[in-house]
Amino acid sequence: MTERLYYHDSFLYSFDARVLETTEREGRIAVVLDQTAFYPTSGGQVHDTGKLVLNDGREVAVAETAGEEDGRIFHFTAGPVEPGQTIRGVVDSARRRDHMQQHSGQHVLSAAFVRLFEVPTVSFHMGAESCTIDLAVKSLTADQVTRAELLANEIVTEDRAVNIRFVSLEEARQLALRKLPPKQTGQLRLIDIVDFDLTACGGTHVRSTGQIGAILVRKIENVKQGVRIEFVCGLRAVATARQDYLTLTQAAGLFSAHIRELPQQIEKSIQESKATGKIQYKLLEELAELYGERLLAQASPPRTVTRFFAERDATFIKLLAQKLTALQPDVTALLASGSGQLSLVFAQSPGMKGNMGQLMKEAMAKLGGRGGGSADMAQGGLPARTADSAQIEDVLREMAVRLKPAI
Ligand SMILES: [Zn+2]
Repeated sequence: MTERLYYHDSFLYSFDARVLETTEREGRIAVVLDQTAFYPTSGGQVHDTGKLVLNDGREVAVAETAGEEDGRIFHFTAGPVEPGQTIRGVVDSARRRDHMQQHSGQHVLSAAFVRLFEVPTVSFHMGAESCTIDLAVKSLTADQVTRAELLANEIVTEDRAVNIRFVSLEEARQLALRKLPPKQTGQLRLIDIVDFDLTACGGTHVRSTGQIGAILVRKIENVKQGVRIEFVCGLRAVATARQDYLTLTQAAGLFSAHIRELPQQIEKSIQESKATGKIQYKLLEELAELYGERLLAQASPPRTVTRFFAERDATFIKLLAQKLTALQPDVTALLASGSGQLSLVFAQSPGMKGNMGQLMKEAMAKLGGRGGGSADMAQGGLPARTADSAQIEDVLREMAVRLKPAI
């Protein structure tokens, strides 16, 4: 069993220890020490990293720390470590401080939800960028979450002491803990945020709430087990706020607006874009009608219009096909467009005897695309440039020839 030094002092970053054994776990070197300040992943908090300084002066990096069922702690090292020697362990203090800020911040935030709304936390996850807690409640309003965030930050500014206590299970039962651990044997380690929160926890924590820094809620999400709150604390909160501000400033620059005006600016831009789209569609419709009249004036009945529009898109040829077949009762339109996805539209005036759906299937079989439709109107598309314009024009002509006997 490894003596856990971090249980008593979360700020111990450097320590001496004896190497008890060096073993192998899933192809990695795992070093067991008689005591350690390295925190192994557990209780939502992620593991420490750092290095071991060996007695010959060599340094080996500790990439991960993990706890075993039997109480041993594995330090996964980048190189071999001879058992029996005394080493110096050095924990990555910046990483540890960040973890302490997130974990203590989580205790404060979870307690705030209990205090204000009697909503318990059922799980805690610490990610590389942000943390989450899952709350056992069906829903929470944005206002409730803001109130919990405010209370949590008030507790931070009050700079309350955060104490570590060890009690028996019997004593713990008398203490109205926020949470009891699932495994209840021996002594319980309690984290006591004076007059605010008392809970069983094996994690590393700050000395007073002021060291947490800001607690910033990022996202509220409904999940299966309740409501998930994403948050960041301490220097992460500063980095996140900085990144958000840069993003907003960049976006505001595009609109030549202040960041506070962004929602209205974006809304206005969306409305303008929708209005422009409508005008564009109307113009396209008018153009299709004029184009249709011109094409029909050149053809004699029964009229088959075969045309590939390299610079037009599927919307235009569909509109044109609709106009052509509505203008005269004897029109078959076999159209293709090359702008955007290569598209084909086949259409005939209502009441004609052809089968555009069938014809489209044949054309697609030749061109390697997918399509179909009704007897009067069919559409098809080709995946990224599988055919060139000459091939498409050939197929259109071939389909026109095939039509002739049917009309
Ligand atoms: Zn905890």
